Amino acid sequence: MTIAIQFLGAVETVTGSQYLVTAGDRRILVDCGFFQGSPSEVARNRMPLAYDAHSVDALLLTHAHLDHCGRIPSLVKAGFSGPIHATGGTLDLTEIVLRDSAKLQEEGEARWLRHHPEAAGAADTAEEETAVERDDPGMPARLRAADPEAITMSRAALYHPSDVDSTVQLFHPVAYEESLQVAPGISAKFHDAGHILGSAIIELTVEDAGGPLTVVFSGDLGRRDTPILRDPTPISHADFVLVESTYGNREHGPMEQAVNDLAAAVSEVANGNGVLLVPSFAIGRTQELVWELDELLRNGRIPKLPLFLDSPMASRASDVYMRHPEDYDEETAGLIRSGGSPLEYPGEEFTNDADQSKAIRTNPKPFMIVASSGMLTGGRILHHLKDFLPDPASMLLFIGYQGQGSLGYAIQHGAKEARIDGQKFPVNCKVRSISGFSAHADEHELEDWVRNFAGAGGTAASDGRPKTIFVVHGDPDAASAFAERIRGDLGLNVQLPTYRQDVVLRQ
Ligand SMILES: [Zn+2]
Repeated sequence: MTIAIQFLGAVETVTGSQYLVTAGDRRILVDCGFFQGSPSEVARNRMPLAYDAHSVDALLLTHAHLDHCGRIPSLVKAGFSGPIHATGGTLDLTEIVLRDSAKLQEEGEARWLRHHPEAAGAADTAEEETAVERDDPGMPARLRAADPEAITMSRAALYHPSDVDSTVQLFHPVAYEESLQVAPGISAKFHDAGHILGSAIIELTVEDAGGPLTVVFSGDLGRRDTPILRDPTPISHADFVLVESTYGNREHGPMEQAVNDLAAAVSEVANGNGVLLVPSFAIGRTQELVWELDELLRNGRIPKLPLFLDSPMASRASDVYMRHPEDYDEETAGLIRSGGSPLEYPGEEFTNDADQSKAIRTNPKPFMIVASSGMLTGGRILHHLKDFLPDPASMLLFIGYQGQGSLGYAIQHGAKEARIDGQKFPVNCKVRSISGFSAHADEHELEDWVRNFAGAGGTAASDGRPKTIFVVHGDPDAASAFAERIRGDLGLNVQLPTYRQDVVLRQ
């Protein structure tokens, strides 16, 4: 029986994660994500699927970010009716992400139909920056620099809320570390990836006359020792490994430094009676930030300032985080057992509509606001900027990467004036950046994870070490640098697959 894998996305780029494993007449898809960023990347979402959707037995989903799950409703629309296996946390977050995506696509279509695409300014593009990992430094510059409307505006909606309804009917939650049969002769096991709630490394095993053959998909790997989630699971046995390389050529600052800088920022704003404004990505980073603020407060390291979470998507995502204590690390679980609520900041306020959001300014200072979008390319953060950029007592604190060409980048690099909705505002507030908060492992952490395979691993059918490590999910520079690193340091056979390349794993 021929066992093969086809690379349908997240090769030579960081988005569009999708891999098709074929074993005889069985077909398993791992991830089915959106290409994001520039119009030419986004256009790939409109290419016909590379296979007959009816012929796919099951879909395995690593996590809920849009570049991993965004195309699933298109797959279902095209006739896929098999189970969608993922952890409960991933499925709950995925529903939020896909509903938001369907809504944005309908809005994009309506704008296009009005023949006024140029009027679709950043401010009305989206209330939220949604699950687009735009503030992710791993995204190539050409994607980061793309206008937000390039993401959502491409003529007809790819799918509608009704397609998301059909999609969630196929959801099948799985527990971490349980072996699950996904097709005759094919089993899967989900391991913690430590990236966002529910994120998984997927170990896929195909049994045939040649014995078992195992392929490990890293998904997106988180950092070690980050709050809330467990660390990425070390795995030592596989015949083939696909590893992400978002930060394959970069190193993060230490977490301790990031936390110290956060504490200093809060205290400074409190002392000056100002407002701390934090632009943030709704899923993952916002929850970690709240966790850190709660921890700092509990340890008496910051004064208690009111916190406004001004993002409906972030508050829905936070609810999902609360519903999945089984995914927490020991520290967070322990804090909850001892009566704490580390995923909530005491007295935090959620704003549900635009009026409530605009009313935040009327509160007595000092206070803190977390709002999207992370790069100031749209969303509710914009009207807060109008209020607080001119205020020398306030602070704009960046915790995510700012893409060139974005308003965030300009302010981070010293712009003295910001143009928002055609009006000019002086930047008199303090501007700070913290680089240590990241949902992705850096080059050292990625290499350490791969090192686990470099010992005497391998299944019975293999001769020990993995036959090939496929380096995926990275901008070309990061992917090749990381490939060199593991080839040189670990002596493993490495391959950089190309888009739509088909590789036979066993004849
Ligand atoms: Zn991700």
